[in-house]
Amino acid sequence: MAMRRIAFMNQKGGVGKTTTCVNLGAALARRGLRVLLLDLDPQANLTVHLDVRPDSLDRSVYDVLCGRASLADVVRPTSTLGMDVVPSSLDLAGAEMELVSAVGREQILKDALARLEAASSAGDGTAPGPWDFLLLDCPPSLGLLTVNALTAVREVIVPLQAEFFALQGMARLRDVIALVEGRLNPGLAILGILPSMVDSRTTLSREVLAEIRTYFGAAVFGTAIRRNVKLSEASSHGRTVFEYAPGSNGAADYAALAEEVLRRGALARAPAG
Ligand code: ADP
Ligand code: MG
Repeated sequence: MAMRRIAFMNQKGGVGKTTTCVNLGAALARRGLRVLLLDLDPQANLTVHLDVRPDSLDRSVYDVLCGRASLADVVRPTSTLGMDVVPSSLDLAGAEMELVSAVGREQILKDALARLEAASSAGDGTAPGPWDFLLLDCPPSLGLLTVNALTAVREVIVPLQAEFFALQGMARLRDVIALVEGRLNPGLAILGILPSMVDSRTTLSREVLAEIRTYFGAAVFGTAIRRNVKLSEASSHGRTVFEYAPGSNGAADYAALAEEVLRRGALARAPAG
């Protein structure tokens, strides 16, 4: 069976994309699923979170986008059984500019993934994989890297921080998804809007959560990720929350999200036009 491909997208930084990518991945891996994480952010936070030092790598996803390496060349295991990562590196920041004139520049990642899947399903034992899930961490922008991500997946999860300006920028985000769906990737859909960093003790956070649910309706996951310091501590230790604090709220929330992702089909489609 082909792997389910999900991108974590929001052009705002600090909303929980990377934290969700790592810990949802770990929650799925704990259920015996095989997960490939792909870091498409030049800041390489996902890579660092998984205890890989970007400056120690001789090749990264950057070399894949530039046609100098295949994904199979750069994928590496993580400390979580069943979870692998394609790391990023700081030079990825240049890719946005370098690829502007490349033919088919929006589809480079999609093509590289097709080759990776073909190699791993050929099953001669030398290629890495196969995987059940691809989780793709986007940079905080709507540029060519994010367009490559949206072209390569079927599903998008949008983490939204439950704070005052949460909904600002959502119209542009949905426009970009609709544009990619219309021109490059028919069938692309929002799997869910994920409220993150929810603090149910504050009125503001509760009100924003209610507003998100009113505005997006069934597109919002039933699971909300509560604010939990163990999540940020885990990342600074290069560990998933299941390794660092398995009894924490953060671990419970990401386990619940994994359950819901497995249950949920693509409910809310990006609006056309
Ligand atoms: P993004 O990838 O969208 O920029 P991150 O996942 O890196 O966002 O999160 C931004 C910061 O907030 C990080 O320091 C992370 O450890 C922290 N963080 C993320 N989710 C939570 C949470 N639920 N509770 C507390 N801190 C969080
Ligand atoms: Mg990030």
